Amino acid sequence: MKKKIEEIRNILLEHHDLFQKAIPLIASENITSPAVDEACLSDFSHRYAEGWSGERVYAGCKYIDQVEDICMELAKEYFKCIHADVRPISGVVANLAMYNAFTSDNNGKMCCMSIIRGGHISHGPRFAKSGREIFGTAGTTRGLNIEYLAFDNDEMNLDIDASAKIIREFEPELVLFGGSVFLFPHPVKELGEIAKEVGASVGYDAAHVAGLIGSGYFQDPLREGADVMTMSTHKTLPGPQHGTLVSNREDLVEILRSCAFPALLSNHHLHNVAGLAVALAEMLEFGKDYHKNVITNAQALGQALNERGLKVLMEHKGFTESHQIVVDIADHAKSIGLGGDIEALLESSNIILNRNLLPRDLAEGRHYENPGGLRIGTSEITRLGMGKSEMQEIAEFIKKIIIDKKEPKKVKQEVIDFRKEFQEIKYCFQKGNQAYEYFKLY
Ligand SMILES: *Cc1c(COP(=O)(O)O)cnc(C)c1O
Repeated sequence: MKKKIEEIRNILLEHHDLFQKAIPLIASENITSPAVDEACLSDFSHRYAEGWSGERVYAGCKYIDQVEDICMELAKEYFKCIHADVRPISGVVANLAMYNAFTSDNNGKMCCMSIIRGGHISHGPRFAKSGREIFGTAGTTRGLNIEYLAFDNDEMNLDIDASAKIIREFEPELVLFGGSVFLFPHPVKELGEIAKEVGASVGYDAAHVAGLIGSGYFQDPLREGADVMTMSTHKTLPGPQHGTLVSNREDLVEILRSCAFPALLSNHHLHNVAGLAVALAEMLEFGKDYHKNVITNAQALGQALNERGLKVLMEHKGFTESHQIVVDIADHAKSIGLGGDIEALLESSNIILNRNLLPRDLAEGRHYENPGGLRIGTSEITRLGMGKSEMQEIAEFIKKIIIDKKEPKKVKQEVIDFRKEFQEIKYCFQKGNQAYEYFKLY
């Protein structure tokens, strides 16, 4: 078994090596600072602390309570709200707590984004209307009936009038905004008012955009009418993999708390609460600067790809207001392949991004395995210190593969050279911790 452990370690080292030599463009990913890593490696990872701080079911929680209290305070400050539950262990679990709070467990009803338009699998029904089976979280665990909000493919956003009609007719208990393909702010104010008309609660899934929102960009759901905002803490918010739920509704705090614990949690991964506290402190210090650059980099990368002949969606709106852009590569199907094929070619060149369904894909007979789009995110490359001129270089690498059809091996060497200068994590305190000494893997 000693051999097995060595094998595991070697694989981890190879993985680290790959990600130190690659261009990481997955929109749902980010990297944590040494201080966050240090907190995550603490003894907290060995402990249990069920319940709310100060009311634990376990002994030995004195320091855990102190850190969790700090984490909640920082989350409330960052998101400007009165309630922050930092216990959900992921974005999906935060969504489940929201479903528990706002929907009936028998034939509950929700309106949200459809998965093919950018909604998330955790919003999905048990069965799609078309008869194609989808095992979405909302459907399988809560039995929710789902009606999708109307989407305007040309604007890559919700269609307000058509969605209002759907909400009025379907009369859901919960209207949920937010998604995984998320270029522009959703009309929370406009449709939130319609939701209230039919007595529905308003939720906002900020898994992708939580960091942008906390730093004051994109939109401000809690002030636009959302009763609850859920999130992952590791996408634009560069914390450890975890979840959080925030709200400004004093009257909901009690129910929201119990819908997370005891309803959904036992241990809530205390080391990640500690890491999240550090990440929130970093973003309160550096987030304004960091997230502004994340967004301008996404816009610059969209422009740079567009100038090189790639079809980036939403040119007429400046490509994006978030950390993501979407590229339509369906025209390259004959010459080089579709989303899945291109994703693989780019991966061989050390450019890591993911294929993505486009709104028009299903009508044109393309499916998730090989769709017509690519989704690109700038959270991680920005954290590595890249700026506008690097966006030009990255666009050039991508063009070399998709349009010039260069050998991936050759481009890979260029990517490795390019990445050499970007090895340090920015927008965090560089000194004051020794995390990398613990972290022998680096
Ligand atoms: C990523 C994502 C989630 C799930 O987050 P996890 O933290 O991975 O559970 C939920 N909703 C949306 C919109 C997402 O993009």
